[in-house]
Amino acid sequence: MRYVTTTCVFILAVFMFLTPFSSAKTQVKPLYVTFDDGPSLQYTPPILDILRKEHCKATFFILGYRALECPPIIRREIREGHQIGSHGYDHQNLALANATTIQEQIRKADDAIIRAGGIRPLYYRPPYGALDSQKNAIIQQCGHPIKRWDVDSLDWKATTKESIISLVEKQVKPGSVILFHDGITQSQFTALALPIIIRDLRKQGFVFRVLPPR
Ligand SMILES: [Zn+2]
Repeated sequence: MRYVTTTCVFILAVFMFLTPFSSAKTQVKPLYVTFDDGPSLQYTPPILDILRKEHCKATFFILGYRALECPPIIRREIREGHQIGSHGYDHQNLALANATTIQEQIRKADDAIIRAGGIRPLYYRPPYGALDSQKNAIIQQCGHPIKRWDVDSLDWKATTKESIISLVEKQVKPGSVILFHDGITQSQFTALALPIIIRDLRKQGFVFRVLPPR
């Protein structure tokens, strides 16, 4: 009897020791919220207000020329713990550009973001999405890993918040990178959808983080 009791206590102790670690490991469900095409004087500040209220960190893929138009917003994004990425200088489609144009777009955007916010962005996201491997290599040689997304909110063509909420919540899985926009007219619907998406996904155990370094 004594042997059985000792064995049970031992098994229970081992179980209690292992459980917190193993469950913590399996329960981590990170999500990466990203915004393209900003900053915008009209839409970025309310989006930042929501992120602050919801304690949610995000990554902003900035356009260089817009960074120069509103440096205080870039500085606020940095101050409030968000991550800054580059979306090029003026949203040029680099799919048909030559190497010199690509390097110039990257460098001009870097210079603008550094001038506005004092930091050099890490990740680069190409406007309009995919580029071929040769162009990707040119960008990476400029010091920027490329970061795309796997969940598209399609907020750029939204006319209500509901479509954004439903598209995002249907597609997310642990580790998803979600694409929103903070610099276009439809960003008004993004701002309405955002707090609902954050709260709904938190209830499902997701946590919001900035993109990890490679
Ligand atoms: Zn864009």
